[in-house]
Amino acid sequence: MTTRCVDGRLIRHDPQTDDPYFETDIGQCQECKGKGCFTPKYIDIVFDDGPGPESGRFIEVENNKGRSIEFGKWIKRPDGYWALRFYPAEYAN
Ligand SMILES: [Zn+2]
Repeated sequence: MTTRCVDGRLIRHDPQTDDPYFETDIGQCQECKGKGCFTPKYIDIVFDDGPGPESGRFIEVENNKGRSIEFGKWIKRPDGYWALRFYPAEYAN
């Protein structure tokens, strides 16, 4: 069972058949007593090459300590593209 702290609230990942990304707020995070656990100073979205006509492939998302982090959700959009969607409020101080 995966849980993460978002602004001091403990969020549990509860995959549903119709919504694999469903999450439940299960109360205050005991680790930080509701203050919010470590918030990265910046986030790197890592590619294997720079921008250009053939841009690099996505590698992973890392915090400022170089650790891979779970960031955003991959969604397939109706227009056929894929997007890594995130909600800035979840990462704000
Ligand atoms: Zn916390």
